[in-house]
Amino acid sequence: MRVSALADLHTHTFRCGHAVGTEEEYVRQAVRLGLKAVAITDHIPFYWLPPEAHDPTLAMAPEELPAYVEAVLQLKGRYRGRVEVLLGIEADYVEGHEHTLAQILQTYPFDVVLGSVHWLAGFWVDAPTSLPEYQKGPERVQQIWARYWQTLEKAIRSGLFDVMAHLDLPKKFGFLPAEPLTELEDAVLQALLETGVAVELSSAGRRKPVGEDYPSPRWLARLATAGVPVVLSSDAHAPHEVGFAFALLQQQLQQLGVREVLTFRQRQPLALSLAEG
Ligand code: ZN
Ligand code: FE
Ligand code: FE
Ligand code: ZN
Repeated sequence: MRVSALADLHTHTFRCGHAVGTEEEYVRQAVRLGLKAVAITDHIPFYWLPPEAHDPTLAMAPEELPAYVEAVLQLKGRYRGRVEVLLGIEADYVEGHEHTLAQILQTYPFDVVLGSVHWLAGFWVDAPTSLPEYQKGPERVQQIWARYWQTLEKAIRSGLFDVMAHLDLPKKFGFLPAEPLTELEDAVLQALLETGVAVELSSAGRRKPVGEDYPSPRWLARLATAGVPVVLSSDAHAPHEVGFAFALLQQQLQQLGVREVLTFRQRQPLALSLAEG
């Protein structure tokens, strides 16, 4: 199945210290696949922590952000007519630091801002170093999930983000809540419906221990039924991962009766028909 006419809205670069490839290598791969658009969305610097807490293996340093933006904007011009290059960023939501984030987001002409909850008061939800926390047992797992959903709801309602990334991220290592957290999940769905914020269907989970997309098929069906807008994403951390499994993502959405996905330009949503892909 062709995946042209689709857009990959989530990719990283060497700048974050745990991905490989230059911005241009990701763009070239998008051209090779015939994608309509590709967003470069590297991890935002740790704006909520003191400078000495900067970890070069998790995100670029604050002083590197202008060069990143410049590199993506140059590619936007250079590849015009071949693929639409979007200036994006994957921005962490951290409660209490909304104002600082808003200021960073205003500084640059972003096309799309992905919102992520990776950080819960000193704890990285998805870092491999967090595995021992999940292994502490079902009670701790339950606690992480509850805290995660509560924070995600605030992130959605913050008005800072266009798209929520990896909606059910705490499942990454395969640890699921022992008791269903129905009320917290319902609150997340409600927040999406009230704000109109989109959700990514990301193939990255297929490359992780959990072995399934973000969000799970159960969540995806719920979102589709409720009419929450969806974007496609690979969360590529290497150029060859651009558009990863997009034909399968497209098929899955079509089976759920979803007819279009979104792309963004200057933070405004645009619909792309799945039938053309
Ligand atoms: Zn990353
Ligand atoms: Fe992320
Ligand atoms: Fe990412
Ligand atoms: Zn990510």
